[in-house]
Amino acid sequence: MARLVVASRNEHKIKEIQAILADQPWQVLTAHDFPGFPEVVEDGSTLEANAIKKAKEIAAFTGCLALADDTGLEVDALGGKPGVHSARFAGPKATYEENNRKLLRLLEGVPPEERTARFRCVIAIAEPDGNVHVVEGKCEGLIGFAAKGEGGFGYDPLFIVDGMEKTFAELSPEEKNRVSHRGRALQLAAELLAELAPLTPESGV
Ligand code: IMP
Repeated sequence: MARLVVASRNEHKIKEIQAILADQPWQVLTAHDFPGFPEVVEDGSTLEANAIKKAKEIAAFTGCLALADDTGLEVDALGGKPGVHSARFAGPKATYEENNRKLLRLLEGVPPEERTARFRCVIAIAEPDGNVHVVEGKCEGLIGFAAKGEGGFGYDPLFIVDGMEKTFAELSPEEKNRVSHRGRALQLAAELLAELAPLTPESGV
């Protein structure tokens, strides 16, 4: 089986990616499979730049095909923020709760029709020779007035999915993967990977 390394240490993301690629002919590897797996600094000014940087560095380090995602929440009433800064919205080491609290505070008094937002997920797949492919998935929704639901991670308890009247945190993992930004980007990534699989040597670890 050809090997694919997920260039992330976020266990929530890794689980979502593994679930969506479960029926694909890939052995999915992570940082745990490679001693000294580098910590890639996400200092790009766009989601694309960060995803490409992570995928390229990990493909070069492991010698395997590497998949990296970078995701941002774009809130229209905030001019597209937090966007590429979603992880550190409330500060460099902010927790999910602190980021969510800041988002709710900035949206105080903003009516429902102006609370539109979207998650954008960019996935880069890098080959060890430096060749990179990029796909993107989006999910439209609204920012709620309070956290709801226990599932998911990050901004999920605040993000009400268009047409579902539930937050991502109120959906099962399968329901979230079916409609989410990452689910959609991964479907496109899976199509790309199907084309790359026959070309990828079973080496690298
Ligand atoms: P990253 O830079 O791609 O790891 O993501 C930036 C931040 O966006 C994360 O720290 C989370 O707060 C948030 N995020 C990413 N993906 C999701 C998701 O699927 N749901 C909710 N929040 C997410």
